[in-house]
Formats: sequence, structure tokens, C-alpha cells
Amino acid sequence: MVEYVNVFGLFHATRKQLYVSAAVFTVVIILIIGLSVGLSGKDEPSHHEEISFNGRDALDHAPLVDGHNDLPWNLYALLNNRLSAFNFAEDLSEDSVWGKANCPSCHTDLSRLITGKVGAQFWVAYTSCSSQYKDSIQLTLRQIDVIKRLINKYSSNLELVINSFDIENVWKSGKIASMIGVEGGHSIDSSLAVLRLYYELGVRYLTLTHSCNTPWADASPIGNSYLHNLTDFGVKVIHEMNRLGMLVDLSHVSHNVMRRVLAVTKAPVIFSHSSAFAICNKYRNVPDDVLQLVKKNNGIVMVNFYSGFVNCNDLRNATMRDVVDHINYIRNLIGVDHVGIGADYDGVDKMPEGLNDVSKYPDLFDRLHTNVDNEPYWSQEDLEKLAGRNFIRVFSAVEAVRDSLSSEAPYEDIIDRQELYNAQLSENLTPGECQTAIEWNSIITTTTEGTNTIGSSSVEPSVSTSEEPSVSTSTISSDQTTVTQ
Ligand SMILES: [Zn+2]
Repeated sequence: MVEYVNVFGLFHATRKQLYVSAAVFTVVIILIIGLSVGLSGKDEPSHHEEISFNGRDALDHAPLVDGHNDLPWNLYALLNNRLSAFNFAEDLSEDSVWGKANCPSCHTDLSRLITGKVGAQFWVAYTSCSSQYKDSIQLTLRQIDVIKRLINKYSSNLELVINSFDIENVWKSGKIASMIGVEGGHSIDSSLAVLRLYYELGVRYLTLTHSCNTPWADASPIGNSYLHNLTDFGVKVIHEMNRLGMLVDLSHVSHNVMRRVLAVTKAPVIFSHSSAFAICNKYRNVPDDVLQLVKKNNGIVMVNFYSGFVNCNDLRNATMRDVVDHINYIRNLIGVDHVGIGADYDGVDKMPEGLNDVSKYPDLFDRLHTNVDNEPYWSQEDLEKLAGRNFIRVFSAVEAVRDSLSSEAPYEDIIDRQELYNAQLSENLTPGECQTAIEWNSIITTTTEGTNTIGSSSVEPSVSTSEEPSVSTSTISSDQTTVTQ
């Protein structure tokens, strides 16, 4: 009996302990569940993972690839490409020549590129449309030369890249992957041979036009109309670019040429520096139907920051918000896989508040990641795509098309003579007239009549001559000349 009582007592005590233990266990479980629910918040669970993530951190995980920088043009305009007079490594924002007070279209130096976390840059070999039918090839070669010399001179910070694979490798080594683009089809002078040789020199995109029509493709000032549109020879240019592995850049072409190229290209295309037409109705921007075609083509629109292209309201200055709106518009319409960055620094004289120079990209990425005002949610993965992964995918796809066409021989087509004749007539030129170089024109017009001027001078052009780009003309260079309704 005693034994029973003892046993019963023991059993009773153990049951109490069990009750207490079960109660404590239940409370702990409820607390854990409650705590985890509280921590996960009411938004996307992924927010928890990114709680300490800033938008700019994406630029430490993927290279920021900018599609368009016109520093080489300013080197020509301000220094006649004399790199010995250029202090690229210094912060030039207050410089007496390159500073913002004296050169509104100067936004770039190495110091600010590093602050801006730029991982890869297309440096642009551009020459003015006034060189078309004249010395555009020579001037383009001169710009390719200065880009290569800049890369070599600053080889601890820059490295020439000619394929998609090396972009990330060079960026991981701490350098800026430096690529070359030629802006304007006038630079090939309607010659596939010249196109091929540019590729051999390392050029990886050709913008089909600048602000002037070529004999084979119309430029944006033509509006929604057309003159030649894309001719049969223009189609050959596209197919030779596909065969070579040269990126087809549709910034600056007319809307109808955009549509035509997207119908005939065998590879994805890029817009190296263009924004959304629906938000700002400039023909340099990309209309919605073309954006849909870019999605189908697996291409990319790299958004231009230029104030005149992102904000069509003359009553106020452009801000970073305008650029964010263009990026979000393109993303919402065709998806996050088809948008990138092509700021156009050094090619224009007015940038939005908050994006004044190449040091400001991280601020834009922070801003996108704040996800305000019902904007799309930008995850780290999305920001990495915007920064560079989308462009690398497109470049890689273009190389894959090149490889698939490796059995094709180079195109031997030449432009139809009548097309060339008509094109020159439409530019108010005398077809067939020998067009001389800009420098020679300058010498001829400034030398006494009757003097045998040709060959009489080997003087290098100075920036002060009227035919040469100067500090003042540089501010209306490149995209400034393209602003058209
Ligand atoms: Zn441009």
C-alpha cells in the first residue's frame, strides 16, 4: 500500500511535470512562430534577406556596363587628342578646362569613374556628320586611336575588352573593361570593307546613323517618316555585322529603320543610349511597338540620362526621378531583362539633378532599391541585370550568332552607285565632287586667294579654327545636334 501510494505519488508528480513541460514547450513554439512571422514582415519574404542591402551594393556583385561615353570626342575637341595634356587620373570637376564651370559637356575622369563604380564602359569613336562623304573614316580612325592610347596610358585602371566573357574578368581584376563603339554609319562611308576593319581594330558596336541620314539608313530627325528607310545595302550592313559579331546599335536611327532592322537582324540589337518615347516624345527615344520588338529580339535598351531626352517639360529641370521613370517604364512594358544603362556622359551639356557626372550611378541604384510610389520592386538580382548582366547576355548572344555563321564568307556587296548619287544630291552636295578633309578646308579658307595652298602647310589644326570642334562647339556635339521633335 505504502509502496502503491509512493508509486502513485511519484506518478502524480511526474504528470505535473509533464503538464508544465508541455505548457512551456507550447509557449516557446508560439513565441518562435510569432517572432519569425514578425521578422518576415508584411511584404515580400525576400526583403528579410536584403535587409542590409543598398542598391549600390549590386555594383559590387555585377559590373556596371555603360553603353555610351563621349570622352574621346572631348579629347579631340579640347586637346586635339594630346593625352600628354590630360590629367585623367585627377578629379577634374573643378578644372579650369575640364571643370563644369567651363565645360558643361565634360563629366568624366578616372577618379569619378571609380567613385561611380563603373565596371565597363563603351568609349565612343564619333565624328561629326559634316565629315560624311569627306574624311569620316580618317577622323573615326583618329578617335579609335585616341581611345586605344588612353587605355594603354592608364593600363593599371583600364583594359581593352573585345568579347563578352572578358567584361567580368577585367572588372574582377579591379579595372574598367573598356570597349569601343563607333557612333554613326557615315563612319564606314558605305563600305563593308571598312566595317570589317573596324571590327579588327576592336570596335564592337556601330550606331547605324548619327543625326544625318546615310545613303542606306535614315536618322531620327526624319521623324516617323522615311527617306531611304533601310535600303537593300543597309540590310547587307546588318547581315555583315551579324556575321562579324558586331553589335547593331539602333540609337539615333529613325523609328522606321528600328522596325526594319528588327525584322531582318539575325542577332539581338542594342540601343546604346536611348530612352522611352512614350514618356518623352523625342524621336531619339524608343516607341512602345519597337520596345515590344526588342523584347522579342532578346535585345536591350540602355537608358540615356540626357535631360532633353528624359524630360520633355521645358518648365522644369530634369531630375533623377525622370531617369527612374524611363527605366521603370521600359521594365514594366517589356521586362527587367531588356533594360540597361547608356548615360551619354560627355556627349551632352545637361544632365539631370543628382546625376551630374559619372560618379553618380550608385545613387541611382540606391534610389531604385528604395521602391517608392508603387514602383516595381528592384531586387538585387534585378539591379545586377540592369547594371550589366543584361548587356553581357546580349553581347554573348551576338557572339553565338557570329559563331553559327562562321561558314559564311564576307559579303562582297558594294552600294548601288545611283543610291550614293541620290543620297549626295539630297544633302545638297555635288555628287562625285572631290570632298576634302576638314583641315584642308580650313587652310584653304584662311589662306590668301591665289596661293597654292594644297600641301603648303602641315600645321596641325588648332581648336580655335572654325572648322575644328572647339570648347564651345563641343557643347553642341553629339546628341545636342540630334534634339528634334
Ligand atoms: Zn549619340
